[in-house]
Amino acid sequence: MEKESKRVAFYTLGCKLNFSETSTLARQFTEGGYQKVSHHEAADIYVINTCSVTEQADKKCRQAIRKFVKQSPGAVIAVTGCYAQLKPEEVANIDGVKLVMGAAEKGELYKRVVEIVEENSSIPEIHSCEITQVDNFFKAYSMGDRTRSFLKVQDGCDYRCSYCTIPLARGKSRNIPIEELIKQANEIAASGIKEIVLTGVNIGDFGKTTGESFLDLIRHLDAVDGIKRYRISSIEPNLLTDEVIEFCAQSAKFLPHFHIPLQSGTNKILGLMRRRYRREIFEDRLAKIRSAIPNPFFGIDVIVGFPGETEEDFRETYQFLERLEPAFLHVFPYSERANTPTVFMEDKVKDSDITDRANCLGLLCEKLHKQFYEKNVGGEGLVLFESTKRNGKMYGFSERYIKVEIPYNEKLVNQLARVKYVSLSPDGHMIGELI
Ligand code: SF4
Repeated sequence: MEKESKRVAFYTLGCKLNFSETSTLARQFTEGGYQKVSHHEAADIYVINTCSVTEQADKKCRQAIRKFVKQSPGAVIAVTGCYAQLKPEEVANIDGVKLVMGAAEKGELYKRVVEIVEENSSIPEIHSCEITQVDNFFKAYSMGDRTRSFLKVQDGCDYRCSYCTIPLARGKSRNIPIEELIKQANEIAASGIKEIVLTGVNIGDFGKTTGESFLDLIRHLDAVDGIKRYRISSIEPNLLTDEVIEFCAQSAKFLPHFHIPLQSGTNKILGLMRRRYRREIFEDRLAKIRSAIPNPFFGIDVIVGFPGETEEDFRETYQFLERLEPAFLHVFPYSERANTPTVFMEDKVKDSDITDRANCLGLLCEKLHKQFYEKNVGGEGLVLFESTKRNGKMYGFSERYIKVEIPYNEKLVNQLARVKYVSLSPDGHMIGELI
């Protein structure tokens, strides 16, 4: 069969970093003459970019692989990502898997799949090395809906949070020089995309391998023609310096939207987690942002049910979050990962208590999110509209990440438009009116 007729499907689990990498792999295949299809369809090749942040994520990966094997018997199943790096043998032993590529080999996946297709080989292959040896950087950015691109600026992490398996899956903190990232930002701008989300594992740590800094990076990106706005996907509170905040405050492009991991609102649990800040620092960072930038959107990550977290500790976290009034909470039920220090910790929290605490913070999130939207009714924002059309409506996000709904108008797709916030829709979006 000619390769031009080969159909390739992609399936991504996990973070935005994985999405940016899959998008880059997909471009390599389509530029090579392959036809990209949905993973719900029959295909000749399935590329699965896995995640291993929780036990549930591993399970989803295995289920996806089995589904694709059943859907298209004989297809080339190529698996990469964190699960593939951490447990290559386990992945290779799943029936139908032909290729497993670890963190260092991800950038070679396209080349190796093409060779397998040409050789018609059926022997499973594992390409993976010790994570401590991984020092290359797979350059990546996404080109999904042509409105927003996720640009990978950094990979790996040198921190050793006691619950986290990511340093074992992605290796040490590293990045490519600013100059190369600017080239990528220019490519993104040339495609017509107006918004870039900076992604990485620990992006505040940017510059370690190139003698630069995160502040240098955002200063240079700010000057790229054609890109109208930037969001910082997630940044550790201890790396969110006054200089970074002040730069964002005066920049017309870096938006008043901050995603910051807290993980726990008690210093006792933060200590057990080996996080590099205490709750006072976290609170101080939010206060600093609020004093420099009016009405920012805060999204906060929190883990519930960490070993040793008592009902009292949880209540303290709840009250802390209630007081901070973020606009959104990303709630993660604690999940034990092999080869992390938490395996040996005592006072594990019962699954039913973890679920109850996650539900409780879920409700708090709903309340805070609604509160933030209501506070903004009557105000206005600059919205970048997307292409999705649903029931005659279109949607876009404002600077402050408010999801705005207006009647569909094709001319506004991928355009920035000023909108007045009128009221909340029944499903919780902001109903807007063009100004
Ligand atoms: S900062 Fe901590 S939680 Fe985040 S990737 Fe690094 S080790 Fe994991």
